Amino acid sequence: MSSIPAIPAVPAPTPRTTAARSVETYPSRAVVNLDAITHNLHVLRTRAPHSLQMAVVKAGAYGHGQLPVARAALEAGADWLGVAQVEEALELRAALDAHGIAREKAPILAWIAPSGEDWARAIAADIDLSVSWTWALAEIAAAARELDRPARIHLKVDTGMSRAGSTLDDLPALAAATRTAVDGGQVELVGAWSHLSRADDPSPEGLASTAEHLALFEEGLRVLADAGLHPRLRHISATAGALWHPEAHYDMVRIGIGMYGLSPEPQVEGSPDLDLCPAMRLEAPLTSVKVVGGDRPVSYGGTWRTPTPRWLGLVPLGYADGILRAASNVGPVTVLTAQGPLSTHVVGRVCMDQFVIDLGPALVRDGRPQEDPPARVGDTAVLFGDPTRDRVPSADQWARACGTINYEIVSRLGERVPRVHVHEGGHTDPEGQR
Ligand SMILES: *Cc1c(COP(=O)(O)O)cnc(C)c1O
Repeated sequence: MSSIPAIPAVPAPTPRTTAARSVETYPSRAVVNLDAITHNLHVLRTRAPHSLQMAVVKAGAYGHGQLPVARAALEAGADWLGVAQVEEALELRAALDAHGIAREKAPILAWIAPSGEDWARAIAADIDLSVSWTWALAEIAAAARELDRPARIHLKVDTGMSRAGSTLDDLPALAAATRTAVDGGQVELVGAWSHLSRADDPSPEGLASTAEHLALFEEGLRVLADAGLHPRLRHISATAGALWHPEAHYDMVRIGIGMYGLSPEPQVEGSPDLDLCPAMRLEAPLTSVKVVGGDRPVSYGGTWRTPTPRWLGLVPLGYADGILRAASNVGPVTVLTAQGPLSTHVVGRVCMDQFVIDLGPALVRDGRPQEDPPARVGDTAVLFGDPTRDRVPSADQWARACGTINYEIVSRLGERVPRVHVHEGGHTDPEGQR
């Protein structure tokens, strides 16, 4: 075997920190108004005044930035924080601890964990855990025994979503095992909970479905009571239940989308009807404004052709930033020009890092524009924001244009887009920067 020549040592490149992308170095930004978060939680409190309020900050607070939103929510009076993954809960707990926020003032519930999860870390971090299955209870109880401190759990009942949760058939066994773990001091039963699958649906079928969920939830609570279990927090409603099903409020409501100022179903009632203020504005400066002749193809595949000579703008956001490719030829955009807002849309396909917008017909002679451009390089293109404040498109309009829901529009916003946290007055919250 021939010997491999030694590779000469080269100096290692200077490592880039993960915080390298900031609003100074990246062209686009998501401006998140924390005062809107506060306002929305207050509005939603009035819709479920007798229940505790959990602020759901999973998925980086639906793309809005986990820690700044969690802190704003606690300051607005939210009683609980909710996340999906245990990992998200641990990250949140560490950040809140670092900011000196007492754990008893910021209880956190996490509801997704695989078998073999590091339960001990979660218990030590005072994370409440959802339990749907006896195997999860056994793993959690074993970790609690090892740590010599009880785990705090919320038993989840499947009331018709067929997702997580114990079916009523499985519940007696889970209740009995929980009873044993409570008696053994491994577990403290804090809550019993479930989730509604059609709380946003006012059709007769939707209402019947919600009624059935509630009936099954009540049955589940009776099964627990028969095992001598009396959880002090019963909760089944997310934003839609909090808004449209007072009979489903119980002891706590879990508020996600509404906190961000968006309606769970804009067809039923939109943000303005509900007095909710969309908290996120997604924007980027135009990186090009130019004239392209008539009947020219635009972007990959040439799926749009200029009908006449045209002013085109270039926006430095693409599908790698979470702009859905389904927005090709349809996504609405407003450019804030010196002459006022100019409403237009994406033309051609959304690329990985940028897309083109139509800025209107161009008056051209001998290939040269005969007029001032309708917008300038550096003018701000707003994809969505709060239309009642800024005459810009809404996340709801983006969702409709892309054939999806507002939840997906905000929560899929890419990691690489800097989040800038502001208060209504417009000043930046320096601690709010991720
Ligand atoms: C995401 C989530 C919520 C919040 O739902 P919204 O519709 O955004 O209010 C509540 N509960 C569970 C279990 C969730 O996964």
